[in-house]
Amino acid sequence: MFENLSDRLDRAFKLLKGEGKITDINVAETVKDIRKALLDADVSYKVAKNFTDDVKKKALGQDVLNSVKPGQMMTKIVHDELVQLMGGEMVDIDIKGSPAVILIAGLQGSGKTTFSGKLASFIKSKKGRQPLLVAGDVYRPAAIQQLKILGEQISVPVYTEEGSKNPVEIAKNAIKFAKDNGHNVVIVDTAGRLAVDEAMMQEVENIKKAVNPSEILFVVDSMTGQDAVNTAKEFNDRLNFDGVVLTKLDGDTRGGAALSIRSVVDKPIKFVSAGEKMDALQVFHPERMADRILG
Ligand code: GDP
Repeated sequence: MFENLSDRLDRAFKLLKGEGKITDINVAETVKDIRKALLDADVSYKVAKNFTDDVKKKALGQDVLNSVKPGQMMTKIVHDELVQLMGGEMVDIDIKGSPAVILIAGLQGSGKTTFSGKLASFIKSKKGRQPLLVAGDVYRPAAIQQLKILGEQISVPVYTEEGSKNPVEIAKNAIKFAKDNGHNVVIVDTAGRLAVDEAMMQEVENIKKAVNPSEILFVVDSMTGQDAVNTAKEFNDRLNFDGVVLTKLDGDTRGGAALSIRSVVDKPIKFVSAGEKMDALQVFHPERMADRILG
């Protein structure tokens, strides 16, 4: 994950870490290399430009040229800017309510169903709550089956209404079932399409209105780069979601989505997933991610 970006940034700092006299031309070169590295990682031009403009301002303000270790100072500036770019603080999920309802939205194939299972497992083991999973993807019978299998693996019950094509009713009935059966968190997996379309958006909006979730999580495949950011924007305009889940970070992802989403959509990344197994889920910490990027 992010190997290419990490390598490129490392090389950019080398110029300032080497022997010899540091000049403002070297600083400008380094900043240019950082910008290129970000663009190659599929960060949008605007985000990359703002980022490097800030880095340059800080570097000159803190007098990198006259510092004893200019390379280290520059690394620290870039690290702190990366943390800010990704939102600064970790933001937890809100599971208030009895039951608390968490709505999962995103495109088909983004990893919604897999994440729903992981989240249920996380809520059970780390938050000590009793989750119920709800199969709201009524168009793909395989999705219902997939959620049932995941539920069995993690010993979390899955609410289904086989044959029903009405996810709003299913979600409402599931909440009643949860109340009657001692489940205090309800996770509703929803249907996705291959691209954003009106019918899908309307359906998720209807479910949102009907179940009043305390948390709406938008799931997106990190490998899709700037498309991930554009899709996030479209979903947020309609749903005003609370957080982002970045999936498939174990794949050949370049990192652009992780770096851009926060500043473009102004919603925090809350989880990252790096693998298909039920325990391959991590709470997103901007600080730790910046550490990882900078090696
Ligand atoms: P949905 O259509 O949004 O519900 O997506 P699924 O949960 O069915 O996931 C689509 C595919 O991506 C499945 O084959 C999953 O096993 C896989 N997948 C989901 N999350 C991850 C991940 O973090 N890493 C990898 N490598 N694969 C994942």
